[in-house]
Amino acid sequence: MQQPNIIFFLVDDMGWQDTSVPFHTEITELNRRYRTPNMERLAAAGVKFTQAYACPLCSPSRVSLMTGLNAARHMVTNWTLRRDQETDTARDDVRSADWNVNGLCPEPGVSRTVHAETLAALLRQAGYRTIHCGKGHLGAHGTPGADLLNLGFDVNIAGHAAGGPGSYYGIHNFSAAWRGGDRIWDVPGLEKYHGQDVNLTDVLTREAITEIERSVEDRRPFYLYMSHYAVHAPWEKDDRFYRPYEESGLPEFEATYASMLESQDDSLGEIMRSLERLQVDQNTVLVFMTDNGQPKQVPRNRPLRGHKLTPYEGGVRVPLIVKWPGIARPGSVYSRTPVIIEDIFPTFLELAGAAHLVPKDGTIDGRSFVPQLDGSQCGHAGRALYWHYPNTYDQPPFSAVRYGDWKLIYFHADRKFELYNLRDDIGERHECSQSKPTEVRRLSRLLTRHLEETGAKMPVTIATGEAVSLPDGVISGL
Ligand code: CA
Repeated sequence: MQQPNIIFFLVDDMGWQDTSVPFHTEITELNRRYRTPNMERLAAAGVKFTQAYACPLCSPSRVSLMTGLNAARHMVTNWTLRRDQETDTARDDVRSADWNVNGLCPEPGVSRTVHAETLAALLRQAGYRTIHCGKGHLGAHGTPGADLLNLGFDVNIAGHAAGGPGSYYGIHNFSAAWRGGDRIWDVPGLEKYHGQDVNLTDVLTREAITEIERSVEDRRPFYLYMSHYAVHAPWEKDDRFYRPYEESGLPEFEATYASMLESQDDSLGEIMRSLERLQVDQNTVLVFMTDNGQPKQVPRNRPLRGHKLTPYEGGVRVPLIVKWPGIARPGSVYSRTPVIIEDIFPTFLELAGAAHLVPKDGTIDGRSFVPQLDGSQCGHAGRALYWHYPNTYDQPPFSAVRYGDWKLIYFHADRKFELYNLRDDIGERHECSQSKPTEVRRLSRLLTRHLEETGAKMPVTIATGEAVSLPDGVISGL
């Protein structure tokens, strides 16, 4: 079978309801507010996953994508930027775990990094031309992982260590310098657009399409990691889409955010049209996903609770749509079992006919969801999903597990548990750890075992200098 082209279209910081495609059982206010017609088209041609998850913030999700590892194992648990410099903020009670502040590294022995074979490197080994476009945010500045060309990509468009752009505007050279911001956020490699009245999202799209054209001309399968900087801060309106939202009465900030959402959707449409024009759309798997829930500044993704950096569904549940012509049933919905971002790694290798390249030493946490796409299997029954954020940036540190309908959150600083039944209570309004002690014990045992098995590091209690207990250690003391 001919290897399909693979496009992973990843939007930054876009929430579960930040689209006109409903992922909930009913259409919400935000579904009506935002216009994402190309996502609607994609959903009509593919499978919509309503229970897809990522990590609660950028670098952890991106490292899980590239390695197939759960965050508890790769320990790039907070956002990365500068070598050896933690991005955590101080608290009185606990300090962050000793996490991998330098991110993902293509070579062993670099301090505070996780070293692993990357998805891009393995796809290249399988014969793919590998293209990175947009936000990298995988390794800290000054480490080998900051350079996407060291991580298995043949081409790097505009990616580096930073997790956001200085500006979306060509007239500002995609730099924050015009408002006195740090040059570390300057988007690299797009000098030919400097000074022009263009938007970064559009520029990345044009550059990506040029690389798709090159790959088609070369008759090589390609993997395009279309990693948009949008819709991450700084929130700067895209004038091509702003006015109708303003005229509908939205305040300036909300209309700005909406224009950025429509801007990335326009990019999706441009890419879909280019695949059709080049007559490769029937042999291209196109996957849409986002890397975490929406940030706290933007309108809430009701009915979900919480936002980016929190363990609640609003922080970790994300849109996922997979179009695989001829295999995945058009317009279908997959809601039976949840999937998580580290699953992309083995899924793409299987799509590429390269499942044999999935590391066999048992350390991959992700599981291929190809069987759910081709209908040969209905999901991994009895599987638990895990989150680990032992950090103190903006929100309190936690670990969490989802098993079946239940989700247990363990907050590290006060050693408190919260238990929710997501089937009955997707908004996590009814905390039931007191009334369901058996479920608490069962999920705590799973979470404890996972944290032990992955060698996860925990925050440190400042008063004692000791690591915070694993959840079972707290339960046994109750
Ligand atoms: Ca993000």
